[in-house]
Amino acid sequence: MSYVISDNCIACGSCLSQCPTGAISQNDNGKFAIDPNACNHCVGFYGVPQCMSVCPTKDSCSPSLASVIPATEGKYWDRWFGTYEHLTARLQAKQETRYWQNWFDVYSEKLERLMVSH
Ligand code: SF4
Ligand code: SF4
Repeated sequence: MSYVISDNCIACGSCLSQCPTGAISQNDNGKFAIDPNACNHCVGFYGVPQCMSVCPTKDSCSPSLASVIPATEGKYWDRWFGTYEHLTARLQAKQETRYWQNWFDVYSEKLERLMVSH
């Protein structure tokens, strides 16, 4: 699972130079994208995904599974992202790298299991 850039991106360019793995690029049409093979959630570099933390919009950068969430599960995922945003804000203030990674791994595993069951 990598991060992805959604259609909400306003092409400000802030994330481009912040990515520690060089996963973010801009195409000829000015659109930004993340290479899923190069994105590692900033593990080993930062406690918080840098594209998300520098993005001036609310949800232009998010975990890729968000883009395939079934519409019928909207309420569940609204809550899931509410928790995600809350914890991310906390971690941005405290840089709890180990805690962040454990939390992210647990939720990634749950999401992947849910995807398999659909
Ligand atoms: S999460 Fe980190 S590694 Fe992945 S695209 Fe964003 S800045 Fe780059
Ligand atoms: S920081 Fe956010 S709005 Fe700016 S280019 Fe990156 S994804 Fe788009």
